[in-house]
Amino acid sequence: CGIFAYLNHQVPRTRKEIFETLVKGLQRLEYRGYDSAGVAVDGPNKTSTDSNNNYIRLIKKKGKVKALDEELHKNNSLDLEEELSTHFGLAHTRWATHGEPSALNSHPQRSDKNNEFVVIHNGIITNYKELKEYLITKGYEFESETDTEVIPKLLKYVYDNRENDKVTFSTLVERVIQQLEGAFALVFKSQHYPGDAVATRRGSPLLIGVRSEHELLTEQIPIQYNSGQFKEGVQEKNSHNRSDSSINSVGDGRAVEYYFASDASAIIEHTNKVLYLEDDDVAVVTGGKLSIHRINRQAGEDPVRAIQTLQ
Ligand code: GLU
Repeated sequence: CGIFAYLNHQVPRTRKEIFETLVKGLQRLEYRGYDSAGVAVDGPNKTSTDSNNNYIRLIKKKGKVKALDEELHKNNSLDLEEELSTHFGLAHTRWATHGEPSALNSHPQRSDKNNEFVVIHNGIITNYKELKEYLITKGYEFESETDTEVIPKLLKYVYDNRENDKVTFSTLVERVIQQLEGAFALVFKSQHYPGDAVATRRGSPLLIGVRSEHELLTEQIPIQYNSGQFKEGVQEKNSHNRSDSSINSVGDGRAVEYYFASDASAIIEHTNKVLYLEDDDVAVVTGGKLSIHRINRQAGEDPVRAIQTLQ
């Protein structure tokens, strides 16, 4: 099983190059084993006449990454030569824990038929049954047999019940992960927050590679990460200079590419600036800027009661 996601900000890339990056990332993770694969990419909605530019396309296949790659390239309603200055794509190889291997059960999983929120997940959500039952009573319809599907549905539920329109993508994700039990590495994408990425983890590994304009110019600059700095090379796991809920950012809105992966082997060919997320870290990229902070878990709280209090 594996996670790979790619975001470019002001770095012109053709759709073909972006697809190749996503597929290559998945191929680097193939050795870990999987039964199906899928991607979420930006692209117009071919089944609807409304010109929603933020529409998210899902392409999912049971079987090999190669089969997914072929599907991506024969998807001729997307212009492969089109140059995109911002694009955020998710890619996943699934090793089924809940629900048989099938296109429907593979990831990305989605919030609804319009793909408003999509997510890729490594791990297991142990309290998915109670969350699913609760969401069904609220009228949310499930289409897969996965534990994962409660996550985008819960996100949409929190979004649908938001108290105002200024609520950020990361705030929504924070509320959702407060309710999750088990292990997860997650990367989220949404039509409501085009070009924004949110990633988080607990118990399953997740790291972020950063390739900035400075690197493209071969001038090396250290990336700031909370109170500490790290230079070239892979950052030590469990860095000790982190303080809870601290925030810092990189990117400055300049040309930058971000790579999210469950395993460093999918990133090292692109950059050697790598951040390892720690448990309950929430990383967000908005306007090309990355910031990371850690949530305080309200341990012991009944998840369903906590959701009800959100209303
Ligand atoms: N538990 C999830 C599922 O069965 C994710 C499995 C994985 O880590 O690939 O869909």
